[in-house]
Amino acid sequence: MKNCEGSYMKANCMVTGRTRIAGLLGNPVEHSVSPQLHNTISMCMGHDIIYVPFKVEKDDLEYAVKGLRAINVIGFNVTIPYKSDIIKYLDEVSDEALLIGAVNTVKNENGRLIGYNTDAEGFRRSFAEETGYGFANKKVAVIGAGGAARAIAMKVALDGAGHIDIVNRTVSKALELSEFISEKTGVSLRAFSMSEAEEKNILCQNEIIINTTSLGMYPDMDRCPVNDFSCFGKDHIFYDLIYNPLKTKLLKEAEKQGCKVINGLGMLIYQGIYAYEIWTGSKLPESIKDELFRQLSANCS
Ligand code: NAP
Repeated sequence: MKNCEGSYMKANCMVTGRTRIAGLLGNPVEHSVSPQLHNTISMCMGHDIIYVPFKVEKDDLEYAVKGLRAINVIGFNVTIPYKSDIIKYLDEVSDEALLIGAVNTVKNENGRLIGYNTDAEGFRRSFAEETGYGFANKKVAVIGAGGAARAIAMKVALDGAGHIDIVNRTVSKALELSEFISEKTGVSLRAFSMSEAEEKNILCQNEIIINTTSLGMYPDMDRCPVNDFSCFGKDHIFYDLIYNPLKTKLLKEAEKQGCKVINGLGMLIYQGIYAYEIWTGSKLPESIKDELFRQLSANCS
């Protein structure tokens, strides 16, 4: 492994005639940390691969995918708003990504585009590393019912959770998601609006509470999906998918109650590591993870 005390700028300076391309399709992409993450990995591994963000308008998605295939990229990530729309342009999709209904990683295998979802596995690995627990027989609350909630609630259900509560501002979306997951996995789920969950103390009936909404994310750091923390204690674990700031108001308040708290940086890093491993077939050493934590946490403090 090479010295990886460098940034994506340094990796950019080393483009050669043999450089392979990986990229990110989305809109917007300007604020993504994926270029820094993947170019750091390439740098550390000494791979001649460069990762580039591509902002794509909705009507151009099909052309963008055809273009990436034509120029023989090794693969690409997909972000908001295309994680579901991309599926119809791919040749094959993994079973888990199909269940989740979202692809965030595409591998180019000799012109065949194969879709995966590494968000869910990145989350599972991060949670396991940081708590030492899995989800088997656990009671889990998921706040939010968007794309990330879908990936996480499905993963938690597939990993054998005992029960899942979905709590969302728009209760119809929570209901749709809970019915879908229950039908696919047989796990028991309930759906609540945020106000009903607050009134009935639903969140503290669960051992693990996962925030998948953007409430509390930079620059609106005073926002929080929970108002009353009085029923939480040391037996509760809070996981917030947000990583900027590293400690949201939700995590600060939960920590005051003695709860274990985890931010979304680990998920971000592991989903990227899995994507890179899918593209290259290389198993990345543990030291890469440490370097990514060091670099990315400096950006988000
Ligand atoms: P999404 O599909 O747009 O879903 C957004 C969710 O947040 C919905 O449930 C939405 O509720 C809720 N929400 C948004 N604004 C709200 C408000 N003002 N009050 C209450 N609820 C609100 O987005 P997503 O892809 O799921 O991403 C959600 C978050 O996860 C983002 O912060 C993203 O950065 C983070 N994320 C982190 C990672 C990681 O690696 N750490 C990976 C993926 C996503 P409604 O249904 O009522 O609109």
